[in-house]
Amino acid sequence: MTREEILKKIVEEKIKFIRLQITDINGMLKNVEIPADEIERALDGKVMFDGSSIEGMARIDESDMYLIPDLSTFTILPWTLENGKVGRFVCDVYKPDGKPYEGDPRSVLKRIVKKLRDEEYIGYAGPEPEFFILPRDEKGNPKLELMDKGGYFDLLPIGHGEETRKMIVEALEEMGLNVEASHHEVAPSQHEIDFTYDKILETADNIQTFKLVVKTISLLRGMHATFMPKPFFGINGSGMHCNMSLFKNDENIFYDKNKKYELSQELQYFIGGIFEHINSITAIANPTINSYKRLVPGYEAPINVAWAASNRTALIRVPASRGKGTRIELRSPDPTANPYLLFSVIFASGLKGVKEKILPPEPVVENIYKMKEDKKMELGIKKLPSSLKESLECLKNDEFIKDVLGEHIFKKFIEIKEKECRLFDAAVTDWETNKYLGIL
Ligand code: GLN
Ligand code: MG
Ligand code: MG
Ligand code: MG
Repeated sequence: MTREEILKKIVEEKIKFIRLQITDINGMLKNVEIPADEIERALDGKVMFDGSSIEGMARIDESDMYLIPDLSTFTILPWTLENGKVGRFVCDVYKPDGKPYEGDPRSVLKRIVKKLRDEEYIGYAGPEPEFFILPRDEKGNPKLELMDKGGYFDLLPIGHGEETRKMIVEALEEMGLNVEASHHEVAPSQHEIDFTYDKILETADNIQTFKLVVKTISLLRGMHATFMPKPFFGINGSGMHCNMSLFKNDENIFYDKNKKYELSQELQYFIGGIFEHINSITAIANPTINSYKRLVPGYEAPINVAWAASNRTALIRVPASRGKGTRIELRSPDPTANPYLLFSVIFASGLKGVKEKILPPEPVVENIYKMKEDKKMELGIKKLPSSLKESLECLKNDEFIKDVLGEHIFKKFIEIKEKECRLFDAAVTDWETNKYLGIL
């Protein structure tokens, strides 16, 4: 949309407020709301905010930041229709000197998009976010209680969760996201909604919009939607598989009809690059303490660094579609990952693999959960980090990923996450009191 079209739409649709949205290092959405008559000022990039109040953003002495709306992201928040419509822009954060702000995760991804474009590549991604819909108590607090007994692809109307999911899909469509599939997931009260893949920057924006919609619609229906990776012990957690491909001159370079499985050499190199940096990528893809409670055997989540043409126990699977639809599916990320940082580290590593011709180990056909340890050693199958602490240690020593994220975000991310680890280490958990209090 052009500036003129947006201004016209604001008048025509009687939009009352505009939200200027950004994402912090933790992946949390932040926004400033302005009355619609301030729109010209916003479009001129004159709206300021105090960066020092947002976690991991600026230091106090350099905290004046400008929000520059990305015109292509303008949309109306559908749930605001009755009591005054609210429009929304995704924004870039700029410093007073007119340069992009290093602490803005979106600027990191824009840098990677440019790096790819400089070599004539375009990266695409399509996520499969999963989440639980839970009830709330009288005070509005979420309850750790399953709302249905549903399972994978169940059709019967089995609870309020289904109806909520349908309304989420409607709201997403109204905001311009094209939903391709929406279904009940394996665990009770668990759902998945897949929307059409797009270029990586657009998809990262869409993931943020998606989370906002899922949470808002659930809240309006008196429920709580959570993207927490493993809210319940003993049943599947919530992942966010990422389907990804790389194009050059309008061709999907992962496809080669003359090669084994019709998969190109570049696809293997891309995987090779990801595998080389997977330990530090894991810190970004699985950035909470709880993320690692999901990455355990037996619940369709990966724990081994292996790839396969079609094997759901591998970290990277290559789904069956070929031609333009040839893609890899990275199965480790969970929906708590900051999507801007996630696609930055994955595509930078993949591109490095392609340029340096890094080969991954051979694809694996067997069920890796059941494979003996010595066989894994023989095949060169390593384990993913099993805690945030472990993946952070790897991240700290990864100069390449440091370069991708930039000094500011790299340092801040580690600082924030190490603090989270220290707090967890010091906490006395229910597990411990249940296990020890009675017997010791
Ligand atoms: N919930 C599983 C995970 O944690 C994935 C299940 C699936 O999509 N088949 O990754
Ligand atoms: Mg799926
Ligand atoms: Mg799924
Ligand atoms: Mg999947």
